[in-house]
Amino acid sequence: MHNDIGSIVLTEEQIKAACQRLGKQLTADYQHTVPLCVGILKGSVLFMTDLIKEIDTHVEMDFMDVSSYHGGMESTGEVKILKDLGTSVEGRDVIIIEDILETGTTLNSIIDLLSYRKANSIEIVTLLDKPSKRKVDIQAKYVGEKIPDDFVVGYGLDYQEKYRNLPYIGLLKEEVYR
Ligand code: 5GP
Repeated sequence: MHNDIGSIVLTEEQIKAACQRLGKQLTADYQHTVPLCVGILKGSVLFMTDLIKEIDTHVEMDFMDVSSYHGGMESTGEVKILKDLGTSVEGRDVIIIEDILETGTTLNSIIDLLSYRKANSIEIVTLLDKPSKRKVDIQAKYVGEKIPDDFVVGYGLDYQEKYRNLPYIGLLKEEVYR
């Protein structure tokens, strides 16, 4: 375990099992269409690449980069599009792939935008869900794991751009962010 990590929230094995379970559900639910998987950069990259390998039907991929956090640990509630999709979503079945759903502000803005652009359907897959932190009424149809209201890092999730490359999800030791 990395020296800055106090405890592990999701092991590599638990992440793999979550990807397999979600991949099976998505395979069953998207048999009759080719969905556009939209990964939200940068946090969802590791999850997205593992998840889509578990989907046994055609999918397409694209990415969006939005910012709601500014390197710290509190959401500002502001969302800015830093990189837009290269693909039209009009008439498409979109699967938004997110690392973690917290207040819901980020996904709410993305859903509004993709609805305005006339996506046929929009569903959310999130590896982690913190339901106790929700500020807007939004739910993910596909959830890897519900977790308590703690700040986590690893497997794509950062603290000041670090720890994204950890293969598991963990809690930082308090002295790291004090
Ligand atoms: P929301 O808009 O739902 O409040 O926030 C979603 C985004 O906030 C996530 O995509 C992620 O970038 C960031 N975020 C929320 N909770 C955590 C956390 O516990 N750890 C890290 N590293 N980022 C988080």
